[in-house]
Amino acid sequence: MNPWFAKAVILLASIVMVVMRAPHGQRSRAIPVVRSGKGPLEILLLTMAWVAFFLPLIWISTPAFAFADYPLRPIPLLTGALCLVLGLWLFHRAHTDLGTNWSITLEVREKHQLVTHGVYCWVRHPMYLALLIYSAGQALVLPNWLVGPSYGVAMVLLFALRVRREERMMLEEFGKDYEAYMATSKRLVPGVW
Ligand code: SAH
Repeated sequence: MNPWFAKAVILLASIVMVVMRAPHGQRSRAIPVVRSGKGPLEILLLTMAWVAFFLPLIWISTPAFAFADYPLRPIPLLTGALCLVLGLWLFHRAHTDLGTNWSITLEVREKHQLVTHGVYCWVRHPMYLALLIYSAGQALVLPNWLVGPSYGVAMVLLFALRVRREERMMLEEFGKDYEAYMATSKRLVPGVW
């Protein structure tokens, strides 16, 4: 198949993700941060996530990674596109439910509220789940051994190296309420873990 199908899908998905996040970012940035867990590890993880987000755009617009290309096939393209749609839908739902309590890093904002409704009923980290589903979609759609899985690697590392620190921060902030939430919710996979 013509790789431009994959390029169009990835470009569209990247634009949709940026457009979905932009208004939430703008709204939450207006609220002062009262507690920050942004250290060197967070800066490293965020830099990695940004680089991994831009690599597909470089793959689309330049031949820099052509050496690792492989032929595009319809089944991975379609399955991957479905994962991208599912990931973006969950990303949108999580952003809507979290509202101004969202931060790109580990932060507690003024009047921060513990969110346990909507998709936060199913799991404590629906946004990370959305990003992992999106990454799987990208790996399937993008026919390049290096760039295809790059966002997935960044998201797995981000999740693995952040989730415990984030839950500790939420426990310190919300105490018994977060403990109760932990007792009734799974971490990442609904009904499983
Ligand atoms: N881990 C969540 C949120 C990611 S955004 C998810 O995957 O959906 C990261 C910020 O969200 C953290 O800085 C933390 O302050 C905030 N946060 C995480 N869980 C929260 C919750 N249940 N209610 C309110 N804020 C939360």
